[in-house]
Amino acid sequence: MTAQPAQQIPGVYHRKIGDIVVTAISDGYLDGNLDVMRNVDVEQARQLLRDAFRPARRTNVNAFVIHSKGRSAIVDTGSGNYLLPTAGFVQRNLAAAGIDAKSIDTVLLTHMHPDHSAGLTDMSNGERLFPNAELAMHENEPKHWFDDGAMARADERSKKLYFLAGREQVEPYRDRTRLFTKGEVFPGVTAVPSTGHTPGHTAFLIASGNEQLMIWGDTVHVPEVQTAIPEAGMAFDTDLAAAAVARKRMFDRVATDGILVAGMHLHFPSFSHLVRQRGAYALIPEPWVHSLDGM
Ligand SMILES: [Zn+2]
Repeated sequence: MTAQPAQQIPGVYHRKIGDIVVTAISDGYLDGNLDVMRNVDVEQARQLLRDAFRPARRTNVNAFVIHSKGRSAIVDTGSGNYLLPTAGFVQRNLAAAGIDAKSIDTVLLTHMHPDHSAGLTDMSNGERLFPNAELAMHENEPKHWFDDGAMARADERSKKLYFLAGREQVEPYRDRTRLFTKGEVFPGVTAVPSTGHTPGHTAFLIASGNEQLMIWGDTVHVPEVQTAIPEAGMAFDTDLAAAAVARKRMFDRVATDGILVAGMHLHFPSFSHLVRQRGAYALIPEPWVHSLDGM
């Protein structure tokens, strides 16, 4: 008798963009319900998921390592131990990929929500999980999440999970934080502000040679629903209307220019193209390839 497999090999996938290699690192997934969706009929959202053979709202969480010009950056850090036991695997999967967290010199944050920034610091000892990295993010992120007035207006859940969690996670990086508004933030990587989901929510465009990749952050949380209905947003969008405007602008840009996309909440490893379909959009995932030589 031989045992049947019960566990996947670690969630790691490399994609070459010109001279740059981008490694998708799975943090795991978060299951939730559709009540957090906004500007969409819940039954319609449920039907779109059923049509895609996805009976529940299962949200993948991804981070991306960028290897460029002898340096490495990570875009977002996963959810640490703040959310569900099905996520929080960034460090484990980095190790499996042979990537030493100490070798990462820059952490680029799309925004300060716990599924992105809660993997920055080990709160059991207050130590940085990327000990040699500077932290780079849009200046509106700390401006908002450290704003006591905004925190006072938030409900209890947001106060704890967004404001306080974000503050304690970025605090150990205070003396090594670089704030940006736009422009090149790492070799070959340009910040593309896409605000609305949060006040400083930022996508990152990676370009090398003739190739481009848009790591679009939280442009979508429920891909099947939001590509079909771009107005659909989430209860935790800081500004629902602005998030929808940003989503449509991003969709139009990557679909028009045929830019490869990756996202924190696209199904792992997430590399896909967005195409226009039936008056809206659909994502076409890239086929898996085993060797970077053929890319
Ligand atoms: Zn997120």
